[in-house]
Amino acid sequence: MPTDACSDYLFPPPHPVSLPIVGQPQRFPVRRIFCVGRNYLEHIRELGNDEKQPPVFFMKPAQTIVQDGSTMAYGTLTENLHYELELALALQSGGYNIDEGKALQHIYGYAIALDMTKRDIQDKLKKHGHPWEAGKSFDASCPCGPIHPAQAVGHLESGRICLKVNGEIRQDSNLDMLIWKIPQIVAELSRYFELQAGDLILTGTPKGVGPVLPGDVMEGSIDRLGSLNITVGPRVA
Ligand code: MN
Repeated sequence: MPTDACSDYLFPPPHPVSLPIVGQPQRFPVRRIFCVGRNYLEHIRELGNDEKQPPVFFMKPAQTIVQDGSTMAYGTLTENLHYELELALALQSGGYNIDEGKALQHIYGYAIALDMTKRDIQDKLKKHGHPWEAGKSFDASCPCGPIHPAQAVGHLESGRICLKVNGEIRQDSNLDMLIWKIPQIVAELSRYFELQAGDLILTGTPKGVGPVLPGDVMEGSIDRLGSLNITVGPRVA
């Protein structure tokens, strides 16, 4: 009898999620997406959060990624879909309890990402002390550009991070404004999770978050990483 590769499964398993890598034909397979909340002081202030609290970690499924140049669905049950432009780290290795001094060795490269947020839903969940998934980890909530290898662009400590909506600047800051620096984020996150090759870490957004509407075009840019271009599609019926 011929063997069917899929016969072990009740239905075909999902295709792996991956991102293109600039300058090479292989793709970067995405394992998990970790996000850091509250990592730029001015953004903590604009949302009225406590400046003395450490940043929070949350996750999105890999399947929430939207590729550069695509249209993302507006999504359901929100009247206040927000952009949050962020630097993403792409890990090539990991482990538990990574030393800050060795953290950069685990970073394969960097990308531009959007932590799309249903702010009205997130605010309700926060008020009740509930988990954020419905406001943060919905379908198409993580547009992400191609990975730029650190070998090509170096490790990023500073550089302009800027988001335009329909050509108008909405967020404009610098990576050197991060409260928790990149090695500290990797080290701290690895105390909770065994980090692995393929993990992405979104490092938080600067001030200027705000809503988009169907038809809007978002262009995020970070020095040395080019740009990420995403169109907001129609509402899901
Ligand atoms: Mn964010």
